Amino acid sequence: MPQPMIERYRDTLPLEPGDPVVSLNEGSTPLVEAPVLSERVGARVWLKVEGANPTGSFKDRGMTVAVSRAKGRGAEAVICASTGNTAASAAAYAVRAGMTGAVIVPEGKIAIGKLAQALIHGARVIALEGNFDDALVLVRELSERHPIELVNSVNPYRIEGQKTAAFELIDELGEAPDALAIPVGNAGNVTAYWRGFQERETAPVLYGFQAAGAAPLVIGEPVANPETVASAIRIGSPARWEEAMNAFNTSRGRVAAVTDEQILDAYHWLASNEGVFCEPASAASVAGILNHGLPVVEGMETPETVVCVLTGHGLKDPDTALGKAPPVISCANEITVVERAVFG
Ligand SMILES: *Cc1c(COP(=O)(O)O)cnc(C)c1O
Repeated sequence: MPQPMIERYRDTLPLEPGDPVVSLNEGSTPLVEAPVLSERVGARVWLKVEGANPTGSFKDRGMTVAVSRAKGRGAEAVICASTGNTAASAAAYAVRAGMTGAVIVPEGKIAIGKLAQALIHGARVIALEGNFDDALVLVRELSERHPIELVNSVNPYRIEGQKTAAFELIDELGEAPDALAIPVGNAGNVTAYWRGFQERETAPVLYGFQAAGAAPLVIGEPVANPETVASAIRIGSPARWEEAMNAFNTSRGRVAAVTDEQILDAYHWLASNEGVFCEPASAASVAGILNHGLPVVEGMETPETVVCVLTGHGLKDPDTALGKAPPVISCANEITVVERAVFG
């Protein structure tokens, strides 16, 4: 029987005995071997397909824990700022918990699938004339003024839930991979993986990737107007800045930037060479190892096993896919015409 993630890793999670388990059977996502990518980079590469979570992104791992704790505490509503996936996840888990949800998103800057999810789950969706960083400042303030639970990754239960992805990698591979490549936005997820690895007393090299137009950790200062096609990581002032940098440094890894072109090429390449369709932000992890190579650490062997975290599902953002893919072939209803269309 599929099991709620909380049940599988309960003894590692800081829930109270009376807390309900608000779950959609998240986690236990596929770890898919990537033979073509492995060949290209010269190591054994797996893809952690987090788009297979119930709402299509890793955010569900954190949301199940954050919403369960909020419900246990008697909260009646949740709120978040979001580039899209947190909104979709919060909206779904709020329904599951019998709570109301409100989400603040940057106007015109979230992928259409994510917007559809938040709306169909009945969340109150507010499109802010501002960016994600502005939205986060506002929801932090709102949650201080009103009895409403903040479920962004500044919420400690989000990080606790998301660390379970690291446990799954270790459980499935038998040990931690040598290196982990991961997209970085608000830097909650890399913080969570690092915590998970630390709790299991392992330390793969962490290799984080930001979009070049939204790369505060790479340039060393906040970016006032972040811009990238990878809307999920369009963040200029990451909330978990110090923890993430500490994780990169302690693991002897690094954070680097990939351009939108590199991201979209990796996104298209992965879909058409490995059969795995992730959203653009997720492809930053693959773009990273393709364009920067595997991490080289002094005194250490080159990594032999690498996991790329694919944070969200490709169907979240069909507009970008259609913009990148070849066109459909129109065809008259006649066998010879169809023949030509099919065989070229
Ligand atoms: C949230 C998200 C990220 C970034 O994760 P952070 O914890 O903000 O660094 C990357 N990719 C996708 C698809 C996301 O939804």
